[in-house]
Amino acid sequence: MARQRPRPFAKKTGEVTRAFDMMHVTPPQIAPRFVADSLLADKAGYVEVDQVTLQHVGYPNIFGLGDGGSTPNAKTAAAARKQAPIVAVNLLSVLKGGEPVAGYDGYGSCPLTVEKGKIVLAEFGYGGKLMPSFPKWLIDGTQPARLSWLLKSEALPWIYWNGMLKGHECW
Ligand SMILES: Cc1cc2nc3c(=O)[nH]c(=O)nc-3n(C[C@H](O)[C@H](O)[C@H](O)COP(=O)(O)OP(=O)(O)OC[C@H]3O[C@@H](n4cnc5c(N)ncnc54)[C@H](O)[C@@H]3O)c2cc1C
Repeated sequence: MARQRPRPFAKKTGEVTRAFDMMHVTPPQIAPRFVADSLLADKAGYVEVDQVTLQHVGYPNIFGLGDGGSTPNAKTAAAARKQAPIVAVNLLSVLKGGEPVAGYDGYGSCPLTVEKGKIVLAEFGYGGKLMPSFPKWLIDGTQPARLSWLLKSEALPWIYWNGMLKGHECW
């Protein structure tokens, strides 16, 4: 059954005129309306799942992942990629009459472009814990690096389209 929720931020919109040298526009991060209006949503409008098992807190046969989920990680495709196998394993376990057996650690990744040719490949989990995919001598995720830029611009598009979106992992 649907329930209508007021849109957060709805009253904060308006017209503003300002001079600027550089503008960085950040839209509000909110859940899709059809999710927020459903019985699956928490108070903020996201599908209310356990942050480790990704199982819905009220409906054990429902799991949630990605930007629409209530997990307190950075909302990134990198996070959804890590959450997908957790959901698959736990869903199969529950379908067989068992309990969720896999856990999501909050992993997310934000390639932060700090200059042309250099990126900080920030990878972290719940609580801001650093979770690098590469050894520090190769890519230090706390520092701008040319190799991170090449990874993002040259390698990741191919990995994304041919690997991740098809459910494959290369490591
Ligand atoms: C500018 C930008 C840059 C980003 N850069 C990165 C990055 O470098 N690395 C990274 O890891 N992440 C990045 N992200 C985040 C990443 O895009 C999201 O975290 C990821 O796409 C979330 O995947 P999702 O499947 O949960 O949701 P989405 O990709 O948003 O998919 C939701 C789908 O549901 C569909 N939908 C909506 N309403 C309905 C409806 N009523 N019925 C049916 N379908 C519906 C939508 O059309 C959409 O296709 C970036 C996001 C933005 C906006």
